[in-house]
Amino acid sequence: MDAISYERAGDVAGAVRAAQQPGAVFIGGGTNLLDLMKGGVARPVRLIDITHISGLDSVTTLPGGGIRIGALVRNSDAANHALVREQYPLLSQALLAGASAQLRNMATVGGNLLQRTRCGYFYDTAFTQCNKRMPGSGCAALDGHNRMHAILGASPQCIAVNPSDMSVALAALDALVRVSGPDGERTIAFADFHRLPGDRPDVDTTLQPGELITAVDLPPPLFSAHSHYLKVRDRASYAFALVSVAAALQMDGERVRSARIALGGVAHKPWRAHAAEQMLSGQPLSQATLKQAAAAALSGAQPRHDNAFKVQLAQRAIVRAVNQAAGYAGGVA
Ligand SMILES: Cc1cc2nc3c(=O)[nH]c(=O)nc-3n(C[C@H](O)[C@H](O)[C@H](O)COP(=O)(O)OP(=O)(O)OC[C@H]3O[C@@H](n4cnc5c(N)ncnc54)[C@H](O)[C@@H]3O)c2cc1C
Repeated sequence: MDAISYERAGDVAGAVRAAQQPGAVFIGGGTNLLDLMKGGVARPVRLIDITHISGLDSVTTLPGGGIRIGALVRNSDAANHALVREQYPLLSQALLAGASAQLRNMATVGGNLLQRTRCGYFYDTAFTQCNKRMPGSGCAALDGHNRMHAILGASPQCIAVNPSDMSVALAALDALVRVSGPDGERTIAFADFHRLPGDRPDVDTTLQPGELITAVDLPPPLFSAHSHYLKVRDRASYAFALVSVAAALQMDGERVRSARIALGGVAHKPWRAHAAEQMLSGQPLSQATLKQAAAAALSGAQPRHDNAFKVQLAQRAIVRAVNQAAGYAGGVA
């Protein structure tokens, strides 16, 4: 059994200071970290409990419009907050699509951003090949069971996917992640926060060691009237996405003024479908254009032997999510 010390941080500076100690990690709701520790995947020496830091557990408005969601806001509180429900329903839907009510009551926004992949070869230490868990050891998923794995942006080192529903909505909404570290504060654009695996699949994000996430900022709400989060999964609840789509539109009548589309369950990070967004923007929303845009979104897909179904599933999910966002639940002409 490993010895672990526990320390409760009183403020951001204290948490950052404590995190400079060897083997220290932050603990939020613990819903991911404790599972990883129990499985022997994570072996921290010191737990820095950040849940008692004041000022990080609220949702507030920003001066120029937009909102700030503190890193310690529980997933259920974020999903049900009036500002989030009214101005960013896409985010509320994505949060409520994740995990279970009990887990959402514990899980924090900061922890959700940093939850690790659900690749079975990463979680099960009986498997000796996992570049994410043991850099340089190989990737058992490449020729193993890879039904849940990536079809976009993967590398020969790793085909794991990011499992967070919340992050898919935040990618579509162009959120900013605010962090505090030994060198002060900085802001990371959401598109730059999670990484593709490349030859360092053990590194999930661009967060530096010892940096604390303090908040997520959302720009002024442009998409509250036309957005939809669609999660396709094996069970109706309590299951990770096979494919998910966050679709957000600005509409002028039946014409799409601008579109944002992000995919979950397909890559090592939430995947923005920029080509599809450009094909839809400035056009009347027709079924033909939408299908072409969905095909463009998946044009670079490289499925493995068990997950080729995700390519068509993702295309169909894009069509359905965009239709729903536009208010054309029955499909467009
Ligand atoms: C059975 C089950 C089903 C689930 N289903 C889903 C699902 O369908 N969709 C989904 O999106 N998620 C799902 N989850 C995952 C769940 O959303 C995450 O476990 C949760 O969001 C993590 O938040 P936490 O606060 O508990 O993080 P913790 O477990 O406390 O921490 C996770 C990681 O983040 C770090 N960390 C935490 N807070 C900060 C911070 N402020 N700054 C820097 N680092 C920090 C920790 O050091 C740790 O490395 C599921 C989990 C379980 C157990």
